[in-house]
Amino acid sequence: MDNRFEYLLEAAPDGVMEVDRSGRIVLANPSCERILGYSREELLSMRVEDLVPLAQRRGHERHRASFADAPSLRPMGQSLRLRALRKDGVEIPVQISISPIQVAGEAHTVAVIRDVSEAESLAEQTRQLFELTPVACCVYDQETLRFLDVNSQAIVTYGYSREEFLSMTVQDLRCSGRGEAMQDEDGPRCHLRKNGEQIEVEARRHPMQYRGRLAQLVVLRDITERRRFEERLEEERTRAETASRAKSEFLASMSHELRSPLHTIIGFSELLAEGMEGPLNEKQTRFIRHIQKDSQHLLTLINDILDLSKIEAGRLEFHLEVIALQSLIDETVASVLPQAEAKGLSLKCIAAGGLEAWADRVRVHQLLLNLLSNAIKFTPAGGSILVEASEKNHMVEIRVTDTGIGVPPEHHESIFDVFYQVAATTKGVREGTGLGLAICRRLLEQMGGKIWVESKPGEGSKFSFTLPTTAGEPSSQRRDRPIVLALEDDSAARELLREYLEVNSYELVFVDSIREALVKALEIQPDLVLLDLLLPGESGLEALRSLKGLRETRDIPVAVVSVMADDSVLKMGAVEYLTKPVAKDKLLAMVRRLAPRAK
Ligand code: ADP
Repeated sequence: MDNRFEYLLEAAPDGVMEVDRSGRIVLANPSCERILGYSREELLSMRVEDLVPLAQRRGHERHRASFADAPSLRPMGQSLRLRALRKDGVEIPVQISISPIQVAGEAHTVAVIRDVSEAESLAEQTRQLFELTPVACCVYDQETLRFLDVNSQAIVTYGYSREEFLSMTVQDLRCSGRGEAMQDEDGPRCHLRKNGEQIEVEARRHPMQYRGRLAQLVVLRDITERRRFEERLEEERTRAETASRAKSEFLASMSHELRSPLHTIIGFSELLAEGMEGPLNEKQTRFIRHIQKDSQHLLTLINDILDLSKIEAGRLEFHLEVIALQSLIDETVASVLPQAEAKGLSLKCIAAGGLEAWADRVRVHQLLLNLLSNAIKFTPAGGSILVEASEKNHMVEIRVTDTGIGVPPEHHESIFDVFYQVAATTKGVREGTGLGLAICRRLLEQMGGKIWVESKPGEGSKFSFTLPTTAGEPSSQRRDRPIVLALEDDSAARELLREYLEVNSYELVFVDSIREALVKALEIQPDLVLLDLLLPGESGLEALRSLKGLRETRDIPVAVVSVMADDSVLKMGAVEYLTKPVAKDKLLAMVRRLAPRAK
């Protein structure tokens, strides 16, 4: 039995020592040696006061005497901040519990000593973390609501000094007449700074023990800026919507007003040209031709402008269907063949096989017609024009190649702008409207395709455009590659996402701040948003809240992929969450479910 006790004593992680009435150490276990730096022999020749820092030594002696007179148990953890003096002279923080025992009729004391330097340094680190974190943190008493502690960011955010805070309650921060300041639910609320300025903050509370009291730690993020930004976005959007509506309404009615008299002009000049009202002399015929040509030009211009304004206002309706490209190309080519032949151009078409596109038939015809007319217009006599189609990455690509005058590289992008014509190539001849390619680009954007040109001046041009092949789910109807917007600032994580998703035909767009995420989401209307929650200086949760708060982005599914992800994000509107690290299969399965690809 004795042996067992001895064994226990030897193995105990705390220092255990026995002290006699005079303060002499009569027993010490190995942990005492480790904590205090003395060998057991040395300890057994010492008095307990030798281990007490000089300043407290006298007090200790008195204390020991009084304890001996009225011995009682004193458990650990309730004591003051005690220090022990190590052999090397260093004072270390310790917790000590003591209890009286009787040894051979004499009153001895057993002391258990625990080295708490590690715990203390941990507490110190936590304190520093609290102090240095860039969000405002306050601790307040659960019952009295009085502040018990605040960090420096709280001082910066609110403008009160630490002392002022400690004399206030959380109620003092609330905006008058706007509910409770903090003790209600987590979430956004209005607070007042010392200078009377109102700020909007996002509060999250965590219950805790603070110096033995029941308290709440509340983390307050200043979201005033973000709110303003959201409001501005909303305002701008409404303004832009109103303006665009007004513009397209104006254009629609103007075009209508212009078209009616134009039809009359065109109709009557045709009648005249046909000699219905008697034969015309040569000069009159020439005059009539001028009238016809220019009124036709005006009509095209008006129709183009109307188209463009409709597209820009999002009012152009698309009747998407599966279209067989071969017949469409044949028809269009046939319709311009007379023009080509009249100019001495060869116009060929390489069979498009059984290619199908998911698009609006009328619009694709318009596109092709536009490219062919341009090719005819800008290719000198004797040249040739070729139309081809092929399939690549779930897209059909249609190319119109000519051997014409070509487009200098510096104009390859701008020719798709409205009213842009390459002056040198068209030599000031106002043959077109300068709107054709701009309309093409916009039509294709709406149908989920792209258009571009490859060309060298003098050698000819190749205009190519793509269209999605066949229909998919509603969200990806217009896109072959669903767009995934990822709020992720870590480059390694980005690389990984790219590896996982891009090879699976997803288009990835990365952003690294909440602001950028909002702007991009509004701009590209992604099929899915992936959110990381840990970002420098901000929390992805705010992005979630903003995305779900804006009318324009509310319906875009948001999935949280973060080490911090848990159920709570679902309540905030996320459709799913994955906790990092995420396996490839799991991520891909989720993305496929939330943003299905077109077939
Ligand atoms: P438009 O043909 O009515 O002027 P577009 O928007 O269709 O307007 O074309 C814009 C400009 O692009 C043309 O004015 C011309 O300078 C250039 N362009 C278009 N197609 C060709 C082509 N096949 N070859 C050379 N230049 C071209």
